[in-house]
Amino acid sequence: MKKIDSAAQFLTEQMDLFQCPVCRQAFQQVENRSLRCESGHLFDLSKKGTLYFLLKGSKNEYDKEMLTARFQIAQAGLFDPLLDSVYQHIQNKETGHLLDVGCGEGSQLDYLTKLGLKGQKIGFDISKDAIQLAASHFTSAFWCVADLAQSPFATSQYDTILNIFSPSNYQEFERLLKPGGQVLKVVPEKDYLMELRALFYRDQKERQDYSNELVIKKFKEHFSSIETKRVRYQFPLTDDAFKDLMKMTPLSWGASEAAKQYAMEHPLSYITVDVCLLIGSD
Ligand SMILES: [Zn+2]
Repeated sequence: MKKIDSAAQFLTEQMDLFQCPVCRQAFQQVENRSLRCESGHLFDLSKKGTLYFLLKGSKNEYDKEMLTARFQIAQAGLFDPLLDSVYQHIQNKETGHLLDVGCGEGSQLDYLTKLGLKGQKIGFDISKDAIQLAASHFTSAFWCVADLAQSPFATSQYDTILNIFSPSNYQEFERLLKPGGQVLKVVPEKDYLMELRALFYRDQKERQDYSNELVIKKFKEHFSSIETKRVRYQFPLTDDAFKDLMKMTPLSWGASEAAKQYAMEHPLSYITVDVCLLIGSD
């Protein structure tokens, strides 16, 4: 079946998972491969079977080169141990509804699917380039371009919200979750990519440090039941993987050209991944 047809079938069967981002009403039908709400707002499926829900264009800092680098290093396994841990904590893996908020180029949701995650899976990102990459590589989820601030997802429909290295909107999470639903959030810990930070900011000790204290504090304010788990490991880097790492990380935005040049000449043979997994529910 063509990607656009299987996406149309998914929408027909799972229409309850969405709502119109313009008028917030339910969608009524899929007609001619478009999703139509009660007031007549239409959203067309792309050839790749993705939906574009943004009401106005968005700018974000993730360009294609960065997304491709992230895809490649994810395929090489950089995030596997962290995702193994996320997987263990997902509830209702067989039939649950899961929303990956800020899914990027789709690697993380695809990996979780390979581990055995079933049920209905939707990945969305505000970056159109990211969603195009996801849809060209993976059929493990329904992919769409959307904004968490004007979200096209329906109220009380989701068992699990994944929020990996991505901004949160807790009011919106609360609206989307079913009673008893959970948010799984991953944030960097202080040693995350520490070797790369040391390379980029050799002369600026203060920029080598990172604290997630405020992010964790905010998370804890929003849930009555909280579990935290630290996941820390070292990942061996080939030369190619090191180049991808340099391209993918937002850290390189703040590094000077001289610092990037120095880093290219001093490739790392391994990198530390250090994150905090936060599991919240009510
Ligand atoms: Zn509408």
